Amino acid sequence: MRGDEKRMSCTGEGVRAFRRGKVWLVGAGPGDPELLTVRAARVLSSAPVIAYDELVSPAILSLAREDAERIPVGRRANGCRHHEARIHPLVVVRALEGKEVVRLKGGDPFVFGRGGEEAEELATARIPFEVVPGISAALGAAARMGIALTHRECASSVTLATAHAARDGEVELEALEARVPRDGTIVFYMGLSRIEATCAALIMGGRRADTPAAVISRATLPDERAVVGTLADIAVRVQRAGLEAPAILLVGEVVARRVESSNCHDMAGETGETGERSATG
Ligand code: SAH
Repeated sequence: MRGDEKRMSCTGEGVRAFRRGKVWLVGAGPGDPELLTVRAARVLSSAPVIAYDELVSPAILSLAREDAERIPVGRRANGCRHHEARIHPLVVVRALEGKEVVRLKGGDPFVFGRGGEEAEELATARIPFEVVPGISAALGAAARMGIALTHRECASSVTLATAHAARDGEVELEALEARVPRDGTIVFYMGLSRIEATCAALIMGGRRADTPAAVISRATLPDERAVVGTLADIAVRVQRAGLEAPAILLVGEVVARRVESSNCHDMAGETGETGERSATG
């Protein structure tokens, strides 16, 4: 099998062969199991070890082998944070035992969520790994909302941004204001707790207060909800509607150009140009 590496080592008992396993950094998409790639579904259903983020939905985890070892990885898992050990130690241990390990991450493994750091650590440990891309939350949410992120008439770029900095800190709002482009679409990940300050920073940075904005929570999951408004009022609308994480904020004229497609038909109940819609109506 590709990725199996043989390493010979001399011990007191003689020469022993070690077989190195492989880690698959797999994108689980935004939540709906039908949005997994064919490759993600295949490796998930065959791997003996699955290390998964807390964001990954139970419906997706249920595709794993019944006898697969399941390792929860995340901020709350095992009561510890994995800052220093960037990849879960058991992932490395199982790979060194010669097993195929699926490291299942929400969305795409290389869009936020520290997939890059995990890949670096695997490379340093000389553990063979492969990346299986996934549908990132921005793309899943945009599809559900009927928002064309780069609609030709109003956006020639899309920026994936976060209001959070690398090591648990928060991006200074002045820095945020300077860092994001003044036109085009911006999608903020992990930003729900700072939505008010984020919108204020964008306005200070030159975006109009009436720039259309939307927040979508738990996109593509059965309980997804969305609120549409402007930079000036989206924070209040989100708070009033009680939207919860995980959620993303989409900003730009493209939000106003959204069109109901048949895959957002069940998000009924929108109230006029701005308002709340939910999968349950
Ligand atoms: N790698 C992931 C992002 C990880 S960071 C991806 O590509 O999507 C986690 C953030 O992603 C959350 O705080 C939230 O902003 C966003 N997110 C993930 N799943 C989501 C979903 N189903 N709906 C809305 N936002 C989501």
